Amino acid sequence: MNYSVIRTWLTPDANVVLTTHKSPDGDAIGSIAGLYLFLKKLGLKKVTPVVPDAAPEFLDSLPGKQELCFFSDSEEEATKAIREAEVFIHLDFNTLSRVGEDMASVLRENTNAKTILIDHHQQPDEFDEMLSVTTASSTAELVYEFCKSLAPDTEIDLDIAANLYTGIITDTGSFRYSSTGANTHAIAAEFHKLGLNTAGIHQMIYDSSSFHRLKLIGYALSEKMEVFEDGKASLISLTQEELTSHNYIKGDTEGLVNYGLSMAGVEVTAFFKEAEVGSVKISFRSKNDVDVNQFARSFFNGGGHKNAAGGKVELPINEAIALYKENIAAWLSK
Ligand code: 5GP
Ligand code: MN
Repeated sequence: MNYSVIRTWLTPDANVVLTTHKSPDGDAIGSIAGLYLFLKKLGLKKVTPVVPDAAPEFLDSLPGKQELCFFSDSEEEATKAIREAEVFIHLDFNTLSRVGEDMASVLRENTNAKTILIDHHQQPDEFDEMLSVTTASSTAELVYEFCKSLAPDTEIDLDIAANLYTGIITDTGSFRYSSTGANTHAIAAEFHKLGLNTAGIHQMIYDSSSFHRLKLIGYALSEKMEVFEDGKASLISLTQEELTSHNYIKGDTEGLVNYGLSMAGVEVTAFFKEAEVGSVKISFRSKNDVDVNQFARSFFNGGGHKNAAGGKVELPINEAIALYKENIAAWLSK
């Protein structure tokens, strides 16, 4: 990452578009809103943060969230900003297709803009300038580093910190996963010193479920969880019908995949969610050396990290589940 070069791109009048991935999580929204607020503070006047589609409601109270431009709702405005952009800063994904094909095709049409990637996923595509650190806990952690290096004299204020802390918390499972490092805690300590209400953020993320959501989780655990391969593998699945009958709204299944891994002895788990009939979104989680990034790449058109990955297949949900069951035993013994 050459910050002197980037400073010549990020001038006060530069047209800058920030992007992140489809179905944004706390790291995606925290990173894009946090960086947006920082760049505004730095004096950039024309920054547009473009998010492919809606974010979970529990993130609504994050500072800057209301200023995000959602491609799915405001396609015209987003397309205009992307066409006029002189700089793209892509956050929390490793390949352009992660924004969804409709938005990706508009991005690809603008071949003049400089491209910057800030991300922690493995095997990233090439961009002009890259802060790609696969060992980083979260993109938010890298956005912190980016801001500090770009403009050391500009303070990361409470609003920016709330966003970056949210990204760190959601991607580390509250400092639990092995990607959590000394640097992650050092940043959290900085935010504490600044006076950030961290307990409030934990509440926003974890204590904001609806009654319907808890009933859905209860149903998924009691009726839709399977354990196999001598207790080493598990899965949870939910059909459209099951989601609808539980008054599902976006964000309700966030974190559900983790339950499958919370059982002693389980080394890999998957959550199958029927997006529409014939189309399934899958989340994978694993412990230790079981590499679900490669597994998702090999069988489910996906990817991610070694211990947390996702993918999508155009198959009936029972066939998607069968594909997992057929291949996971061999993968576990690799
Ligand atoms: P989640 O299961 O929480 O949706 O995603 C876990 C990780 O896998 C995230 O880092 C996410 O970026 C990645 N991931 C999820 N879905 C996909 C996908 O369809 N393709 C790729 N390449 N990565 C994904
Ligand atoms: Mn992330």
